[in-house]
Amino acid sequence: MPSFTDALRGYAHTILKRDGSRCRYCGLDGTQWPNWLYLSWDHLLPVGHPNRNNPDFIVAACRFCNEACNRTVWDVANKTPDQLVAQKKPHVLAKRAEYRSFWEQEVRGSRLGEQLRGKEDV
Ligand SMILES: [Zn+2]
Repeated sequence: MPSFTDALRGYAHTILKRDGSRCRYCGLDGTQWPNWLYLSWDHLLPVGHPNRNNPDFIVAACRFCNEACNRTVWDVANKTPDQLVAQKKPHVLAKRAEYRSFWEQEVRGSRLGEQLRGKEDV
């Protein structure tokens, strides 16, 4: 097998595989195409932490969930990887809900409106 320098096929593949190719926050199933394209790896520890690059402290996350709380400072002292995911998860899911609400009103809603207008034109 060729070696890849990108995340999905290269350095993140082992982490994603360990986590079942699923986002640890929302459960996006990367075993399905094209969901896999939206997976990334999430460092649970901040830049500068001695364990930041320890694979135990890196988890599979979809791109949205990975970036949803990027600027939040978490209490990481003496926490296991599972505890760190559990700490972050409710905040990520709340952010997803905010975006879902916007999408329902501004994206799906306007598309439905366009479809309805289209039918009125027929
Ligand atoms: Zn996700």
